[in-house]
Amino acid sequence: MTNDKLSSAALVTLHRIHRQLTDLRGRRERGPKQIAAGEANVAKKQEEAKAAKEALTRAKVKADDLQLQLRHREGRIEDLQNKLNLANSNKEYQAIKEQIAADKQANSVLTDEILEILERIEDLERKLKDANAAVAHSQEDLKAITQRVKGERATLESEIERLTTELHQAENALPGALRAEYKRLSESRGEDALAPVENEVCTGCYTTITRQMKTELLMANPVFCKSCGRLLYMPEE
Ligand SMILES: [Zn+2]
Repeated sequence: MTNDKLSSAALVTLHRIHRQLTDLRGRRERGPKQIAAGEANVAKKQEEAKAAKEALTRAKVKADDLQLQLRHREGRIEDLQNKLNLANSNKEYQAIKEQIAADKQANSVLTDEILEILERIEDLERKLKDANAAVAHSQEDLKAITQRVKGERATLESEIERLTTELHQAENALPGALRAEYKRLSESRGEDALAPVENEVCTGCYTTITRQMKTELLMANPVFCKSCGRLLYMPEE
């Protein structure tokens, strides 16, 4: 421990610089994460649009197939109707008539199915349109995020550089004996190397300081929290 005098203003400044650096570094780190999240969102929307397109294609193939079946059976009904006039016996006539009735019934069911699938195709077309719009929207979002992050990066870098210089100046102004101990703390903890004392409590860990510690603080001697180890200071009024 050292007896070098220490102004609380110096520690207030030191802590402020540390906090600002933490904030700026956090923002610098968040930028690329925000871009990555934007890219993941675009990929997800593209997957959804691809699935919507595939569902639509499947429905269209199915509709074509059903319509082909319908036309095929309509052709057969026409043939049967021609045969009806050429029937040689009443029995044959009846058999053809029954076949025509059965085919007509089957086609009636098929027509309902086709109407249903055509409705579904309309629905799937709407969904595909929405999905494509969502892709475009997510791409615009990504573009805006990327531009913002890139725009901020230069500012953040120069702010971090400026504050790092300020930090070193403030650190060099610390009394020599304290400096080494503070540096060790600061390197491992960053802004958590320091804590203001409020209402006789270390605001880093909420432990009450002793009378002795308070006296030392008022005498401008370096005081470390006995509980969390932070370098303590009195906040300025
Ligand atoms: Zn503490």
